[in-house]
Amino acid sequence: MRLPIFIASAVLFIQCQTTPYQFSGKSTAHILKTLSADEMRGRHAFTPDIEKAADFIAGEFKRAGLQALSNQNDYRQKFNIYSITIDEANFNFRNATVKPDQFFVLADNNSIEWTSDKDAAIIELGKDADFRAEFGKIRNMDGEVLVFADPSHKDIFIRYQRFFSRASRTFPNEQNGNKVFVLANKPPNKNFKISISKNVETIEMANVAGMIKGNRTDEYVLFSAHYDHIGIRPVQEAGTDSIANGANDNASGTTAVIELARYFKSLDKPERTLVFVAFTAEESGGYGSQYFSRQFDPEKIMAMFNIEMIGKPAVEGPNTAWITGFDKSTFGELLQKSAEGTIYEFYPDPYPTQNLFYRSDNATLARLGVPAHTISTTPIDVDPDYHQVSDEFETIDVAHLTNTIKAISKAAVGIVSGKDTPTRVNTSELN
Ligand SMILES: [Zn+2]
Repeated sequence: MRLPIFIASAVLFIQCQTTPYQFSGKSTAHILKTLSADEMRGRHAFTPDIEKAADFIAGEFKRAGLQALSNQNDYRQKFNIYSITIDEANFNFRNATVKPDQFFVLADNNSIEWTSDKDAAIIELGKDADFRAEFGKIRNMDGEVLVFADPSHKDIFIRYQRFFSRASRTFPNEQNGNKVFVLANKPPNKNFKISISKNVETIEMANVAGMIKGNRTDEYVLFSAHYDHIGIRPVQEAGTDSIANGANDNASGTTAVIELARYFKSLDKPERTLVFVAFTAEESGGYGSQYFSRQFDPEKIMAMFNIEMIGKPAVEGPNTAWITGFDKSTFGELLQKSAEGTIYEFYPDPYPTQNLFYRSDNATLARLGVPAHTISTTPIDVDPDYHQVSDEFETIDVAHLTNTIKAISKAAVGIVSGKDTPTRVNTSELN
């Protein structure tokens, strides 16, 4: 009677045995090449060009067999952003005129018709004020604010003016008042008249996200990368390339997210629920990760593997990757431990002065306490292609990219299986 039992267990064994997805250079090259092709026109958020990339990623998530997020019926996680520009501005302070380069507005979508300090709180920034620090405070205030900055702040004022006189972008549910900055001393009496009309454009944007439900439905592990890039650049010389293809930044990370989805889907049901997300607008304000982070209870996100620019070998050698904010949680140590015995090594970000921990989508989640870190390999300090039209498929080391994705899949095992849980980020220690 032993034999049938043996046969039965052998059949059972065969049924449970899954064949893990095999990472290959052919597959990574195909995804990377598609995302960085000229037809994608540099994947700039706030332009229709990015839609093509979103379609492609959604198609890949579908092929991988991911489930859409529970509150979405497709892989696109859609949201709106207001893009607000100034149409016309009139200032009257006892007939003194305010020139266009003497003001800027952090605008919301409400119109501005102010005639006294009843309409807006008035703040004066005198000669001794720290403009940068005060600006940060005012920006986060609720309500309408009119700021008079002493003309001695001219240099810094003009820098801010140049930046903020482009469109103001906000989430529709975050209209917390207009902030008007004027480079002039406050008029001696309360008589003033300010009217500013605006154009408010609603722009639909989308992250692309899918998941693999685990046994623990309230413990998430995120694998993310931004899929947007910087689009079409001004042509330097007639006939030269103007498309910033963003092969390394960040078609490489997006490729990793797609390939990891395929890999984890090929394994048995994971212990934790795995969420795969391609963020929009990392290069233009970080709106994609901001929106995404508000759809989750951050306490339930156990870790975030954010992947950026892994198409070129790191300074420490070919089979190495670095992790930003290494000392901010035990995430990095856990990855190092999981990678022990493999040819691949993870180590702390070698460019601490570049503040890379704060320069990608991981920071949005880290500010909510999530052990959220970016994994990268590019020698960013000397990379000639960073944010250039030369960031093309041909500059990518496909074997390195594939090895890195594979290494991340191995290093994530402890966290995916629920065996390892990184410590939370102490938000009071963040800049
Ligand atoms: Zn990037």
